[in-house]
Amino acid sequence: ERRAALAASSGPGRTSDGHRVPLLANIGGPAEVAAAVAAGAEGVGLFRTEFLFLDGSAQAPSEERQVEAYRAVLEAFPEGRVVVRVLDAGADKPLGFLTPADDEPNPALGVRGLRALLHHPEVLLTQLRALAKAADGLPVHLEVMAPMVADRVDARAFADACRAAGLPGAVGAMVEIPSAALRARSILQEVGFLSLGTNDLAQYTFAADRQVGAVARFQDPWQPVLLDLMAGAAEAARAAGQGCGVCGEAAADPVLACVLTGLGVTSLSMGAAAIPRVRATLAKYTLAQCERAAAAARAVDTAEEARAAAHQVLSGE
Ligand code: PEP
Ligand code: MG
Repeated sequence: ERRAALAASSGPGRTSDGHRVPLLANIGGPAEVAAAVAAGAEGVGLFRTEFLFLDGSAQAPSEERQVEAYRAVLEAFPEGRVVVRVLDAGADKPLGFLTPADDEPNPALGVRGLRALLHHPEVLLTQLRALAKAADGLPVHLEVMAPMVADRVDARAFADACRAAGLPGAVGAMVEIPSAALRARSILQEVGFLSLGTNDLAQYTFAADRQVGAVARFQDPWQPVLLDLMAGAAEAARAAGQGCGVCGEAAADPVLACVLTGLGVTSLSMGAAAIPRVRATLAKYTLAQCERAAAAARAVDTAEEARAAAHQVLSGE
């Protein structure tokens, strides 16, 4: 029992019957690495690189400056996995050198994320080259993913750019638009892993701007339709023999983390502060219990009911 308690408070993420679910950290730059290491993160599941450059500058950061920032993160996880997301600019995160000035009526539906990078291929190529240089000679498992992938055309364009930059390691796609979730199988023809972004997936599934408080109820990651979309993507990845993680806020909710595990998700990435509680909760249940909780949460119609159904299954009532 002491050993079980110890495993729950540190070490890698696993269910009580030993099913491994790596627990990774979401970070915005080198300054957040120490907290991730202290929380026992097994690596980084989402490095939001745009946060390094949200200084209002009209200039793209130089390749050298980028290499320095990426290396500081990669060095902190010598044997671990670090998933770097290329610049996700636009909407709530404008970058002067990448996103159009205020001339879009619906910035969340406009040129943001990968779309902005494909409009500025030189910015994308510089970032990918900087990442390849930063990883050079390190044992770290660098993986690079694109935000806002909508379809196979997007996924192919990103994979082509990664090849052109000579990037080592796996290339992935975020699944945060319903079109990508519904056609995950075709996206996996182009990339080697998926990462579910539940914040934007909620926004685009419900047509509810994540920045508008009046429609905030749609940001609840327990919405059964989001569980359905995630289950489909996870199943497509399993069939293709590839990984499908979660890096949106959903992963930080300990009970929802168990449900996501039951849906077939292969890693969970969250703010470092949430890792200890997620680790401890996951360690209390078997994979079969997580699967039953996931099925119960998908069988109802509202977020509140889904939450209650999963809690009920896991508390053994
Ligand atoms: C998401 O959309 O869930 C996500 C992880 O990306 P971000 O919150 O940075 O848009
Ligand atoms: Mg997103």
